[in-house]
Amino acid sequence: MLSLMEISREQTTFLYGIQKPAQLKEILEKKDPLIGLSFVGRSNVGKSSLINALFGNKTARVSKTPGRTREINIFEFSLNEPDSNGTPQSFWLFDLPGYGFAEVSKKQSENWQELMGTFFECLPPSVLICNVQDARHPHQKADQQFQDFLISSQLQSLLVLNKLDKLKKQKERAELKKKKKMIFEEYKHVSQIHQTSCENKQGISELEQALIQFCLLEKERITLAAQENS
Ligand code: GDP
Repeated sequence: MLSLMEISREQTTFLYGIQKPAQLKEILEKKDPLIGLSFVGRSNVGKSSLINALFGNKTARVSKTPGRTREINIFEFSLNEPDSNGTPQSFWLFDLPGYGFAEVSKKQSENWQELMGTFFECLPPSVLICNVQDARHPHQKADQQFQDFLISSQLQSLLVLNKLDKLKKQKERAELKKKKKMIFEEYKHVSQIHQTSCENKQGISELEQALIQFCLLEKERITLAAQENS
């Protein structure tokens, strides 16, 4: 039987914590090929909990104070199996600062804009944007603003609706189904919508498989392009 490829949760390592756009630009431009995943969402939607569920318990700091992290944290993660040449398969993970909380100052908000502007400008399409939203109330104003920002970048993205366990009633789940349809119609660049719960782990392994598939396909695409050019 074929064993399922997984993320090696004990092997995720922290590389950089970045606040300065110039430093970010330098790091992104130096890494070639740059393949990986980035997570971004409104504060408190459970982005850190989701990262920990996927990449190992101590990867991201789960905070009780929304909006504390104002930097981009970069990690390297590995898959549990090497490629066909026996080489370990590693990719980059970006934990982006949360957006859309009321209590930040104008200065902090400008810093976020500048850092994220640089990030989206320098990022190649081989890094997937995972936008985490709250399943109870997705597509809030700040989420829509972020999605509009994303459209101009032409990057690939998927949506994760987290805290699914909080939707206890049938009616609430039916409501979410309707909203998903509307989101797909409005945002054609969103390739998949996943539903997860960090509380009971629902949807986590399906999401993990989709993320692994993205990284492996991008790796193959880049390897083929390099062979054609040589
Ligand atoms: P972040 O600000 O988006 O990084 O959110 P955190 O990961 O820090 O989570 C914010 C709060 O939501 C914490 O108290 C988490 O324990 C809780 N939380 C995160 N994910 C879930 C989930 O799927 N279900 C439930 N019930 N709570 C969650």
